[in-house]
Amino acid sequence: MNVLLIGSGGREHALAWKLAQSERLDTLYAAPGNPGIAQHATLAALDVTDHRAVIDFVRRHGIGLVVIGPEQPLADGLADNVRAIGVPVFGPGREAAKLEGSKGFTKDLCARVGIPTARYFRVTSRDGALACLDDFASGDKLRCVIKADGLAAGKGVVVAMTRAEAEAAIAALFTGGPAEAVIEEFLEGEEASLFVLSDGTSTASFGSAQDHKRVGDGDVGPNTGGMGAYSPAAVLTPELEEQALGEIVRPTIDALAASGTPYVGVLYAGLMLTAEGPKLIEYNVRFGDPECQVLMARFAGDLVETLLAVAEGRLADMPAPAFADDVALTVVMAANGYPGTPETGGAIRGIEAAEATGAVVFQAGTRADGEEIVAAGGRVLAVTATGGDVAEAQRRAYAAVDMIDFPTGFCRRDIGWRAL
Ligand code: ATP
Repeated sequence: MNVLLIGSGGREHALAWKLAQSERLDTLYAAPGNPGIAQHATLAALDVTDHRAVIDFVRRHGIGLVVIGPEQPLADGLADNVRAIGVPVFGPGREAAKLEGSKGFTKDLCARVGIPTARYFRVTSRDGALACLDDFASGDKLRCVIKADGLAAGKGVVVAMTRAEAEAAIAALFTGGPAEAVIEEFLEGEEASLFVLSDGTSTASFGSAQDHKRVGDGDVGPNTGGMGAYSPAAVLTPELEEQALGEIVRPTIDALAASGTPYVGVLYAGLMLTAEGPKLIEYNVRFGDPECQVLMARFAGDLVETLLAVAEGRLADMPAPAFADDVALTVVMAANGYPGTPETGGAIRGIEAAEATGAVVFQAGTRADGEEIVAAGGRVLAVTATGGDVAEAQRRAYAAVDMIDFPTGFCRRDIGWRAL
């Protein structure tokens, strides 16, 4: 079977690496891809925002499965448009993708079907936003979370620990004119990510992970797309996972099916494990980056077969996805300046030496410059290793990181600290 993978990040390199191991695969194409993905796939110079061009490519190359990595093409309806010509797609359609694209949509769905999540208000004006703050005050203390609606690449959320912080966030939100936002209760607990495959009606757990959002060691500094991750997340015990599936994920999948907009793909539930049980923080409608890297490092099945079963609605006939018992851990190496303006063009050497240790180096923001690989984005590499426990996986991942010569880059040195 010929497969087309859409995307160009570390997540898609991990998917390409695993798809390429499939017995079912004839040719893997990737658009637009990157130099790491090019090790496993034929790159197609396609503008993925041009859905006609994608469809034309799918027809010309006899593609039997399209796998969409990032959220933007899903929000743009690429999955709907490819499905309309009868080709199976791994990834939700535009309507179901609102689970990530609109926080208001998701919160209203949760309220409608009774899914545990933070208490919230949807607001569309500064005065409306200020008016609901009292609801989150207790005595002279106030804590709440202010979230702009719409895709904001992790930058639209402010966790306010005082009234002044909340007011400043609201002022910032509405300076540019009208806006939509959700203001919600601050939840206390540990965060974990749960990944669930859904073919529209049936679901299958696809493992858990914990990521590291802040740029600096010890979880300090600004938020990023993710500086590292490990899988599984031990805090999400089998009991808590079952509870999250039963109370949060399956009711969501059922509600979308009942609305006639079934969810097909992977649903990524960002959970807060509170004293009252798991509560939903957010949904993403695709694999996380870098969580995908650690999930793929542990996945023991045939990825083409599994994703095709999801895309064709045959999940119920498949055995549950199998994972190695090992822990996988990934360390993101970013270009200096990230998450601000990254310094691009810096040479990266030593990837082969790093992989000779047994690790896998997934590439994200890289570009080939003659024989060399150079930095071409914020997050550049995800150095991924497995081990019997978090400590061993961490040791191996950093042993590989230390083989990489990337003078204009940096990484956190403490990925996995919560589990150690
Ligand atoms: P991303 O997709 O990058 O994770 P996002 O912009 O979609 O981010 P959320 O995941 O909703 O936003 O929030 C970002 C972070 O803010 C969460 O990972 C969590 O740490 C914190 N957060 C969000 N909502 C709450 C809440 N209700 N209580 C406590 N912390 C929260």
